[in-house]
Parts: sequence; C-alpha cells; structure tokens
Amino acid sequence: MEKSDVAALFQSFERQNPRPQTELIYTTPFSFLVSVILSAQATDKSVNKVMETLRPKVETPEAVLAVGLPALTESLKSINYFQNKAKNIVTLSKILVEHFQSCIPLNFSELVKLPGVGRKTANVLLVELAQEERIAVDTHVLRVSQRLGLSGAQTPETLERDLYDVVPRVFWSRTNHWLVLHGRYVCTARNPQCSSCFVKGFCKSFQEGLS
Ligand code: SF4
Repeated sequence: MEKSDVAALFQSFERQNPRPQTELIYTTPFSFLVSVILSAQATDKSVNKVMETLRPKVETPEAVLAVGLPALTESLKSINYFQNKAKNIVTLSKILVEHFQSCIPLNFSELVKLPGVGRKTANVLLVELAQEERIAVDTHVLRVSQRLGLSGAQTPETLERDLYDVVPRVFWSRTNHWLVLHGRYVCTARNPQCSSCFVKGFCKSFQEGLS
C-alpha cells in the first residue's frame, strides 16, 4: 500500500473512533499487567470475568504473593494456559518486590526480561501506562494488516518493523487498538464483514476478491 493510502486508512480509523481504548478493565497498573498476561490466547471478555472477583487480590505484587501460587492457579482455571500464567504472575511479583520496589519497570528491555512478558505485552504496557508511541502486534493485528495489505510480514516482529515504517507516527499508540477492535468485531478470522467494512476501499484482500 502506498504511504499516502496508509495515512488515509488511519485517518478513517481516527474519524470512526478517535480515542480507542483497551477493553481490559483494570484498577492499578499491576492489575493491568496481570490482565494483559492472562489475555494471551484468551478473550478480553473471559479475562474481565475472572478479574471481577480476582482483581482485589492482584492489585499489587504483594497481594499476589499473599494469595500464593496454589490459590491463584485455582482462581485462573477458566483461562487458557492458566498454570503457566499463574506461575509467571507469582514469579514476576517476587521480582518486582525484590528488585523494583514493587513497581513495574516502564522500560522495554527490563519488561521483556520478566516472565510472561514478551514484545507484545511490553509494547501494550508502555502505550497504556507510559503513553509511549509504540505498536503492539498480536494475532488480530497480524491478520488485519495482512488482509489490508499493510505488509506481507508473516511474523509479529517483522510486522512491527514494517508498521513503524509505513504508519504515520501520530497513529502509532492507537494502531494496536484500532486493528484489534477491527479484527474482533469486523475483520474476524473466519467471517469478515467486508460488505459493511468502512475501510474496504483501502483493503487489498477485498479488492482482489479474496475475502
Ligand atoms: S474489507 Fe474485509 S478483509 Fe478487508 S479489512 Fe474489511 S473486513 Fe477485513
């Protein structure tokens, strides 16, 4: 896609939803981190449901350590990969208490060293909690970007690089939200709603009759 078309595409997203927000409900930065870790391979809806009762027990790393691994694992049973996620949340709580005065280090290279925190989670946290201009890439962002023709990248890391190259910087911190929401409600994996899609005029797949 030409850079001028990419700019026009994101202007359309901006007109449609100027201030897109995360659908994860949270009360503290740490409870947001817990929700983002839980949301890998799980829907935000399922995470919000579990967090409704769990949130008071995971608002700080100390609170997680007080709950302990067995009880946390039990509370997360409805979430995919709950055992690993519970282990990571407890281990990273210990690290934050012991090395970061119980605060989340808002620094990419420190974040990705924490258990359960990869590039995507680190970028999501830095956009949400530190207002940094970054693009987090998950499966929705990958699928929608490929369909639109923003990039032919096959991996999140190469797509992230391509997006920084083509998307105007002013849109970076909202790009993840727009593409995730579009992928969740319009450009779904199995049944994209192309006829009612407001960006179909820019979409490579639509123009090529592939979707
Ligand atoms: S036109 Fe279809 S494939 Fe293209 S972005 Fe819209 S929903 Fe997705």
